[in-house]
Amino acid sequence: MPKTHEPFRSSSSKRLVLIVDDEQINRDLLGFMLDGTYDCLYAANGLEALRAIRKYRDTLSLVFLDLNMPEIHGLDLLKIMKSDPSLRQVPVMVITSENNAEVESLQLGAMDFIPKPYPQPEIILARARRIIELSEDRQIIRFTERDSLTRLFNRDYFFGYSHQLDLFRKDQPMDAILVDINHFHMLNERFGRSFGDEILRRVAEKLGESVEANGGIICRRDADVFLIYCPHGMDYEAAVKSASIHLGEDPLMPSGQVHLRMGVYENVDKSLDLERRFDRAKLAANTLRGNCVRSVAFYTEEMHQKEIFDAQLVDDFYPALMQKQFKVYYQPKYDISQRRPFIASAEALVRWQHPTLGLIMPGSFIPLFEENGLIPQLDRFVWRETAAQIARWKRQFGFAIPVSVNISRVDIYDPELTTFFQSILKQYGLQSHELRLEITESAYNDNADLIIQTVGQLRSMGFCIEMDDFGTGYSSLGMISNLPIDALKLDMMFVHNALRGDLDARMLKLVRDIANYLSVPVIAEGVETLEQAQALKDAGCDMLQGFYFSKPVPAEAFAELARTSSLPAGSDAEQ
Ligand code: C2E
Ligand code: MG
Ligand code: MG
Repeated sequence: MPKTHEPFRSSSSKRLVLIVDDEQINRDLLGFMLDGTYDCLYAANGLEALRAIRKYRDTLSLVFLDLNMPEIHGLDLLKIMKSDPSLRQVPVMVITSENNAEVESLQLGAMDFIPKPYPQPEIILARARRIIELSEDRQIIRFTERDSLTRLFNRDYFFGYSHQLDLFRKDQPMDAILVDINHFHMLNERFGRSFGDEILRRVAEKLGESVEANGGIICRRDADVFLIYCPHGMDYEAAVKSASIHLGEDPLMPSGQVHLRMGVYENVDKSLDLERRFDRAKLAANTLRGNCVRSVAFYTEEMHQKEIFDAQLVDDFYPALMQKQFKVYYQPKYDISQRRPFIASAEALVRWQHPTLGLIMPGSFIPLFEENGLIPQLDRFVWRETAAQIARWKRQFGFAIPVSVNISRVDIYDPELTTFFQSILKQYGLQSHELRLEITESAYNDNADLIIQTVGQLRSMGFCIEMDDFGTGYSSLGMISNLPIDALKLDMMFVHNALRGDLDARMLKLVRDIANYLSVPVIAEGVETLEQAQALKDAGCDMLQGFYFSKPVPAEAFAELARTSSLPAGSDAEQ
């Protein structure tokens, strides 16, 4: 960047300086020395000086300050300037006959000290010039290291300074803190961008005050996310409270309160890199999602253990895939439209037979692999294994048992998805209706256009699409009526709740009506008891799946079930 001092110049081409001295002769002498180079202002005592500094703080390049003065002593003036953030950046050169005041002056923020009587003018001019350059350079740095909206540090400088804090305060216990604003994008959308900006500025200002009072530093990482690195022991609740603005107090703003979420990783482990420390603060903050009562959460030992466990799963993923440690289990789906329920199809559910951790259920690794992008590789493995199994059973039984596989919301973004399914059908000689696809309802809310387009393509290839976990995704009725689907699969919790009280039972009826409207069957999962099976049959469900019939089992056990295909002994849900 070219070195330029232009933005900080006063309106004339010369820089503005202030000469403070109670002796007229001294003011005149110094003014005479500086006159050709600078525009000079004069003050005859401390109070006049303070007024002038306040008035010209944005354009003043340097203050020449005498110490021994009426009204306000020069050292007291330095103290006032140091404690006021808006005056702190104005550079001061002390010129005094109090020779023993040098250390104190410098400690109070003076940038230079010259004893009286005045030295040669060249010396004063040279030193003044050096100070002005230094302070202007400092201002330029301040501009580049700050976020223009909030004036907080930007991310890179923040990490740089945090690193320095570690170097210089090795033994100081520190906290890594992440703060974000609940539903910030909603605020932006509802009230406009400038409203959002105002919120960010206010939150930044209030958080900044708390952080500064505790000797820490703060940055805006991006959008509505703030990072704080600060000596341990800040009053977290108080900081959040002071920054959570009561919008109702401002007539220009809609009523309600901006809620902040703060995740704290206390007494950080300094051997971790800084990014990871803030990842931990983020993990803590994430536990507050959707919680409007609590605003502060801490990184715990339990999260730490989960982090270690997750890291191991990610490390072990590729070897596990190569060594086929992932096993596909099959859970039957019973058709209950006839007098006697029979296995009409199955769902493929993955498990991980880990060599040291034992059998791991998908709830422990699917969300993790969805987050870090490994899921498409796992799913392709599962889909291929399932297709191969359908083909084997087809040969074994002489007919196909359709099996559905789960498609993650992340898979929908894979541009090769439809081609991949086509290729496995071809490879294993299957018809498209023999491999069914389950897509979770909430995926339809992520990116409705994309999913409708992808699902439309898959259906035109002949695949049956089951909407999984129906009743959790809050799809609108308008949206559902346009969805290209072939079955509604009720979420387990929805089923359990529906069977508990009258009101929810009416919901079941509503789902049945929706399914009738779409002309698709209803599948209920999570059926654990005979009573549930009976009630779901009465409510008009077409297919049932659940532990009452069978848990998900390995392929061989499933083949055995399919061969007998009957209800548990003693059951009478068969009518
Ligand atoms: P899901 O697709 O909704 O699968 C149903 C889950 O309910 C399965 O859990 C199943 O074992 C369980 N379940 C079935 N009947 C009962 C019952 O009567 N009582 C109870 N308490 N649970 C029952 P699982 O196998 O642990 O799978 C959990 C979730 O993991 C699945 O939910 C699915 O979203 C995901 N998942 C499983 N396998 C795969 C896969 O290969 N790929 C992807 N992307 N996701 C998978
Ligand atoms: Mg499923
Ligand atoms: Mg489900």
